[in-house]
Amino acid sequence: MKKRGITLKVREGEQTGVESRIQRLEALRKEVEGCRKCPLWRTRKNPVFGEGPPDAEIMLIGLGPGRQEDLQGRPFVGAAGKFLDQLLEVAGLRREEVYITNVMKCFLPENRATDDEIRTCTQYLDQQIEIIQPKVIVTLGNVATNYIFGKFGLKPEAMEKVHGKIFEISTLIFQAHLIPMYHPASALRNPPLRGTLIEDWREFGRWLRELRVV
Ligand code: SF4
Repeated sequence: MKKRGITLKVREGEQTGVESRIQRLEALRKEVEGCRKCPLWRTRKNPVFGEGPPDAEIMLIGLGPGRQEDLQGRPFVGAAGKFLDQLLEVAGLRREEVYITNVMKCFLPENRATDDEIRTCTQYLDQQIEIIQPKVIVTLGNVATNYIFGKFGLKPEAMEKVHGKIFEISTLIFQAHLIPMYHPASALRNPPLRGTLIEDWREFGRWLRELRVV
């Protein structure tokens, strides 16, 4: 895949090669596959760790696996995933070039997670972000957005106010842009949102091209 024009910022002496990232992600994937740290392991068929290039510059974060994702062990493969593929295309992106994961790694029977479950499971998401070091994080829906806002010290805001906007997030060793978006499934439940989502993703694509990220 063609490497795009932004430079990863890394600590001196840190192993940043793709091989190292693959190894670290695989070790973490194995940990998730055996995880029983919250009650959701009981109702999963397959944990959904996430997928994409280990050095992806764009990371997408949703809430958690639905029925189809649980059966296939892959993120965003149901109806919402099909719409997500369309949105990626609108932005000029291909699914294979972004890393896609979720806040929660196991099937959510009621499509929601408790605060305790989120607190427990996000240790894995935190490590994925640390390993991949994406330059752009796109959060899909309220749960992922609130989690990333909180993690990087931003005040939570309603999705109506923040969708499609660009925020800068940073720690001493990491900096990236954050773009909160409505979850693709929200447009399936509420069709008038479809146009808003398409326009947000089109604008996101324009911004990426201006930055020469794509
Ligand atoms: S949801 Fe997360 S914390 Fe809970 S069992 Fe699955 S991997 Fe472990």
